[in-house]
Amino acid sequence: MGELNTFPLSFKVKGQRIVIIGGGEEALNKARLIVKTTASVVIISQKITADFNDLNVDVQSRAFVERDLDGVALLFVAEKSDDAERALLTARSRRIPVNVVDVPADCDFYVPSIVDRAPLTVAVSTEGDAPVLARLVRAKIEALLAPDLGTLAKLAGSLRERVAGALSKAQARRFYEELASSAGPDLEQLFEEHSGDALGEVWLIGAGPGSEDLLTLRAQRLLQAADVVVHDQLVPEAVIEIGRRDAERISVGKKKGHHSFTQAQINALLVRLAREGKRVARLKSGDPMVFGRAGEELAALRKAGVPYQIVPGISAAQAAAADTATPVTLRKVSTGLIFATAHGADSEELDHWAALSGSGLTLALYMGKTIAAETAGKLLRRGMNPLLPVGIVVNAGRKNRSFSRGTLGQLASGAAEMADGPAIIFVGEAVAHGDWADAAAIAADRFKVA
Ligand code: SAH
Repeated sequence: MGELNTFPLSFKVKGQRIVIIGGGEEALNKARLIVKTTASVVIISQKITADFNDLNVDVQSRAFVERDLDGVALLFVAEKSDDAERALLTARSRRIPVNVVDVPADCDFYVPSIVDRAPLTVAVSTEGDAPVLARLVRAKIEALLAPDLGTLAKLAGSLRERVAGALSKAQARRFYEELASSAGPDLEQLFEEHSGDALGEVWLIGAGPGSEDLLTLRAQRLLQAADVVVHDQLVPEAVIEIGRRDAERISVGKKKGHHSFTQAQINALLVRLAREGKRVARLKSGDPMVFGRAGEELAALRKAGVPYQIVPGISAAQAAAADTATPVTLRKVSTGLIFATAHGADSEELDHWAALSGSGLTLALYMGKTIAAETAGKLLRRGMNPLLPVGIVVNAGRKNRSFSRGTLGQLASGAAEMADGPAIIFVGEAVAHGDWADAAAIAADRFKVA
């Protein structure tokens, strides 16, 4: 995040006076914006050229005098003239905030692009240097927000005291969420529904391979509704950031210098949070049901009677296939894809090597990066062909992804040098049909012989 030189605020102008120096198009544009407020607007200029007749403004065709700024809340300077200069100096000496149209350097404040759903407003600003961008974004938001959002905002405003009196903060948030998403809600019923003890819930959410835009819309929506986000270390900050700002965040990943949680502790944590009435987003990398220890967590939730929902995510192997245009299933080449781990839980010996070697299918091996050569050796010993193509994708689905390409025999002959980050190892003929042009070669001479 860059540092801001401005701070977006909503400035109270109710019943205040706002002066615009200038009588042309620019003054008119500003006047149009300001007349949406309850402030009174005074236009002062010796050259009134624009037509202000449609607007409820006080147009004074004369020279500026210092008295014009008595009791004024804001000044807009929308012409170049001696009057404008004097008004600017006067405002500065009285510390009245000034906006000089199209001269960012002289502005004390900028006027954002505004989406108006009174009493609700969305303001988009760019610190004055890229107003076109702000207008573009405004147009997008405009299209996104229902035209009758203002009515809803009024309703929410009128309910504020009652809600604050009757509902807890968490209850109130859910009440408003539902109010916003239901058409013509029955208010009494809504109050009733939300005033009981809030029931906690756990959402197992797939965060995808690590880019914000490889998240599903549902994952995004639930993340924003969650009271707590419990995430693994593999889930990048940018994805966690999608959660509500005031949501609690708990990292249960194993990271140096951090307390790491055992699976039993994570299970207990989820149950405890849900019992406190919280909505918990359990954010897992990739798909939660693929090597995500989801089985254990779901069993604990079921046992405790905690309701849950599962949101699928893009698994690392799928992202890796996309990154390298590898058709993991391909007619006459590979009739299936196997998601397999290269690493046994708690270092127990795996007994799937013979089955994998004899399958004839594309293998996507998870958790095999640090034991890549060993893994290839195990497949070879069970009779897999040393000439089978191998492709490795590190940081699949992320900007910093990188690739290696070679044969199973080459992979077995040493420890690969790979970039930092998690990796998927593909083994099978299908790899030869992908686009691995950017891949580093897995050549025996680039390997340390084990
Ligand atoms: N549930 C996850 C897998 C978690 S297990 C999923 O569906 O993707 C952790 C393993 O996933 C890592 O050891 C690595 O093999 C793989 N992995 C996770 N993210 C990855 C990524 N961005 N690129 C490559 N492999 C990744």
